[in-house]
Formats: sequence, C-alpha cells, structure tokens
Amino acid sequence: MSATAPPSGHTFATRLDSIEVSSTMAVMIAAQNLKAQGHDVVDLGAGEPDFPTPQNIKAAGIRAIDENFTRYTPATGVPELKDAILERYRRDFGVERRRDEVIATVGGKQSIFNLLMALVDDGDEVIIPAPYWVTFPQVVRLCGGVPVIAEARATDGFPVTEELVRRHMSPRTKVVILNSPANPTGGVIPWAEFLRICRTAADAGAYVLSDECYQRFVYDGAAPYSAAAVPPELRSRVLVSGSLSKTYAMTGWRIGYTIAPPEVAAEAGKIQGHETSNPTSIAQAAAIEALRGPQESVAEMLHEYQRRRDYLVPALRALPGIGCMNPQGAFYVFPDISAHLKGRVKTSDDFCALLLERQRVAVTPGTGFGTDGFLRISYAASMDALAEGVRRLAEFLRSL
Ligand code: PMP
Repeated sequence: MSATAPPSGHTFATRLDSIEVSSTMAVMIAAQNLKAQGHDVVDLGAGEPDFPTPQNIKAAGIRAIDENFTRYTPATGVPELKDAILERYRRDFGVERRRDEVIATVGGKQSIFNLLMALVDDGDEVIIPAPYWVTFPQVVRLCGGVPVIAEARATDGFPVTEELVRRHMSPRTKVVILNSPANPTGGVIPWAEFLRICRTAADAGAYVLSDECYQRFVYDGAAPYSAAAVPPELRSRVLVSGSLSKTYAMTGWRIGYTIAPPEVAAEAGKIQGHETSNPTSIAQAAAIEALRGPQESVAEMLHEYQRRRDYLVPALRALPGIGCMNPQGAFYVFPDISAHLKGRVKTSDDFCALLLERQRVAVTPGTGFGTDGFLRISYAASMDALAEGVRRLAEFLRSL
C-alpha cells in the first residue's frame, strides 16, 4: 500500500514519496509565466546553450528525414553512432574502447538513469558531492538507493577530493558520482585527484559514475579529460555518462551516451530496450555528423563562454556582500549571497523569488543543489542579458 494519499484520491507508488520536482525547472516555469504575461525577464536560470545547433548538424537531421531514416534502430543506437563516439574519444583523449562498451542514450540523463538502475539495489549507498546537480539524489532514490551527500568546503571553492569521498564511504557504498566540470559550481576536479578517487572507489569494490556532460567546457587553456581514459586496471569500475546536449548545442535532440565495461553496458542496454527503445533515429543521424563533422563551432562557443565568464565574475565580485569563485568549467557561476540573508530573505529561495518579483531576473537558488546561501547564474546567455542582469541585481541588493 502506498503511503502517499493525496486529496485527489490517487495513490502513488511509495518510491515517489521522496521525489521532488526539479528546482531548476521551477525557476524556469516561473520565469516563463512572467514572460508570457509580457514582463521583461532577464533569464539567467537556463542550463542550456543559447546558441542554435550548428548548421551542418541540423542539415544531417533534415537529410535523415528526407531519406526516411525514421524507423526503429537497435535499442542501444546504430553501430555508426557508437563508432563515431569511439572515434571522438580516440581523437580527443587517445583512448581505445570497444563498441560493446558504448550505448547511445536519450540524453545524458538516460545514461545516468540506466546505470544507477542497473547497479543500485535497495539500501545501497551512492556518494554525491555537494553542491550537486539536482537530478542525482532524486534518481538514486528512484532506484531504491540512499544518497550520501558529501559536502565540499565552501571556503575553498567546493573542492571534490579523495579525502572527502573516503570520509563518506561505508561497506554499503555502491557508486560515487563525480561531475567534472560541475553543475552548479563550474568546479573541475584535477585529473590526478580524479584518479585517486577512482582508485579508492575501486579498492572498495564501488563504481565511479562520471557525468561528463560539460566535458569540453574548460577554460584558461585547460585540457579536457574523460574518465574513459582511466588506466585499464580501473576500467571495470569506472562508468561514463556523456552528452551532446551542451557540447553541440543539441539539448532538444536528446542524445547522450554511456561508456562502461561490456557487462555493465549490456545490463544498461537491457533496461533501455524496455524503457525507450532507441534514441530518435533522426537525432542519431545528426549526432553522427556532430561527432564526425567539423569541430570549429565547439571552439567558437567555448571562446564565447569564456568571454562571458571573464566579464561576469569580476562584475559580481564588485557587488557589495557577494563572493564569487572563478569557475574553471561548465557555464555557471555560483556566487555566495549569504551576507544578504537576513530579515525577510532567510534562504536563497527567498532571495531568488524576491529577485524575480522585484527585478525580473531569473536565477536558481543554491538550496536545490544542496547548498543554501548561494545562487547559480547561467552564462549561457548573451552579454547584453548578463550586463542587464548584473545591473538589476545591484539595484536589488540596494533595495534589501
Ligand atoms: N548532467 C548534468 C550535470 C547536467 O547539468 C545535465 C543537464 N542539465 C545533464 C547531465 C543531462 O543533460 P542531457 O540529458 O540533456 O544530456
């Protein structure tokens, strides 16, 4: 019998009892409602590129439709797409992985879901460093697992270290989720530290799930890395969830992938076969072009993101009572607004709600990411929007 009995009379499965609506979605919806009413909203809440999908990728999708590439494909994706993913990893990271280690998924989200569904049993613990992407603990709970939140130290810019992970391990630890570059902090785990975490997890018989959705978004000339490139002795314990959503401005196409040991990939594929079957055939054709075609658009977008970050961080630091670390990756900044939490504004949720109400600026409260006192500001927005957002934020702070 379900514990949930809403007034409507519907009874829902108990597995939903602790599942919440995504807080990032809640901000998006509130901002969209205001826009629909004709308000001039500066939207810095969105977690998606403001660029259109590059022309060559769109053309490949259109071609796929014209050529009637519109039927079911193998559930885990067409071999050509798997090969295109493997080629990218070979070129970008010098790693050789096999076709039976790859699954094309419906976005990075499905990859994460499949892997956790395949590995996490009731009561198994999954370590999630905080601040975390909102979806991680929710999916762990959906799978019957117990999220173990490992709070990184705010004073040092939330570093995710082997020591932090080790302190949260127990005999029930099944998976450690790493997300570098991270949503919402933009933090990057140095590769040597990343490897140390993988070794500790593997020694304990646990897995590392590396969410690499922002893999290519690293700044100041840093080289991107992938967990697919861990030394062979660690490979049986390291799982990669990747995505084309951000790298190629393809959020709506819904293509991601898994790279995992063949046995794990097979189980994840089994789940996918019953869940969605294949990712959309047309999107798969577009993804092949994205991965094999010219990569200049990726570099151009990256250059623009860095320009925006380099504007935004000093502009925020110049505001009274705002601290802001300089993110090394992704396209978010995560400023500390705790100095402004007083009186009516008790939490970062209050801060964001009032900022939207008074100044029509949409940003996401840190609470949803497990860390109150901070905001996530997305700089996947035009320079004009960022400048106007900062101006309004300054005005808002004066009004508090
Ligand atoms: N991981 C992280 C950290 C994300 O921020 C997102 C998108 N917001 C995803 C995974 C999933 O993206 P998608 O399903 O579009 O690939």
